[in-house]
Amino acid sequence: MSEASVFTRILEGEIPSEIIAETDRAFAIRDIAPKAPIHLLVIPKTEQYRDVVSLADGDPSLLAELVALARRVATEAGADDFRLVFNTGPGAGQTVFHVHGHVLAGDLTEGSLVG
Ligand code: AMP
Repeated sequence: MSEASVFTRILEGEIPSEIIAETDRAFAIRDIAPKAPIHLLVIPKTEQYRDVVSLADGDPSLLAELVALARRVATEAGADDFRLVFNTGPGAGQTVFHVHGHVLAGDLTEGSLVG
């Protein structure tokens, strides 16, 4: 078994971070290096899926749960509109291979591409 991902270690309390919302199968935190005024991450509790393509193939209802959690945390942060980004593969800037969605909101005029 390879080492637990940074997000699993946060979930297990090994790395400090505030869990700002959760469901049975997903949780949300603030990105440590925000690229927008609001920059949150929505993450399945399992690290079984490395990216959004494998998540959509393996458990589409969990992907739908992540999208709903993104809507909820954006609303709670005061945003009606938001961008939901899944970097997919190293060439697209993915650095953590435990699928997660970036929830970006606020002033996005700079583009706010993450990665
Ligand atoms: P990606 O590059 O799409 O794989 O996104 C990984 C994201 O995780 C980056 O935006 C990082 O800033 C973020 N990140 C890494 N470590 C932490 C941490 N300990 N707490 C919160 N966010 C983190």
